[in-house]
Amino acid sequence: MQLYVIETGRFKLDGGAMFGVVPKPIWQRTNPADGDNRIDMAMRCLLVQEGDRLVLIDNGIGEQHDAKFRQIYVLENEGWLDAGLAKHGFSRADVTDLVLTHLHFDHCGGTAVYNTATERYEPNFLNARIWLQRRHLAWATQPNAREKASFLRQNIEPVAASGQLQLLDGDMELFPGFALRTVNGHTEAQQLPVITLKDRTLFYAADLFPTFGHIPLPYVMGYDTRPLLTLEERQHFLPWLAGEEVVIFYEHDPLNECGTVRLTEKGGFVSDRTFPLSEIL
Ligand SMILES: [Zn+2]
Repeated sequence: MQLYVIETGRFKLDGGAMFGVVPKPIWQRTNPADGDNRIDMAMRCLLVQEGDRLVLIDNGIGEQHDAKFRQIYVLENEGWLDAGLAKHGFSRADVTDLVLTHLHFDHCGGTAVYNTATERYEPNFLNARIWLQRRHLAWATQPNAREKASFLRQNIEPVAASGQLQLLDGDMELFPGFALRTVNGHTEAQQLPVITLKDRTLFYAADLFPTFGHIPLPYVMGYDTRPLLTLEERQHFLPWLAGEEVVIFYEHDPLNECGTVRLTEKGGFVSDRTFPLSEIL
């Protein structure tokens, strides 16, 4: 199995919202804020090549945003997705499978693209099946008022209408060595890839552990719809991550692609080491 990091862009989010109840003097040690209290965010995707399959996990925020949106999020991403694929000799047409962890706009915005000729959003990966949890699609299609701003109609309707969608019901194995685990605290049925390499396991943590600064158990994002459930899910995953020295892939960490966690003497979990993906390939 070959793995490639695809950086699809940068943006900024409010640091307080990203760290929930954690006080700023603590979170800003790992994630420094700008003058508007915003922290840097990557949108780091993973491309997995196995036999004839080329699987892209998430695809960033998309390029069809107006000036106001770009300014609010300090968005920088024009040309990044295609350049990221091209860097490894691929194009969008080569992708056979899109795995969408969930439909928040910073994870799935590249799935459809606006066609100025037809004035419609159209599929951006013409040869790909799109893997998504059935319960998440239903949730995103009828969004609650608090989460609504994270689900953009321009992202969701073209996916639902594409004919490329493969809806999943819970945990499953997409192919040997590539499994999906579902969690429900951040949003309903977010799916997280677990990839088994020759001598390591890699966990695509998406919004369960968005940056290495989010490892300690209570460092749950303010965005989460069910924070106590996120806490339970973190409690479930952390002993496994530490015990098996699983490599965590950070989608949103501005600097660190990967990291490991360890158990402290007091029984808590902390980030152990961070490193580029290339270190384990
Ligand atoms: Zn999210």
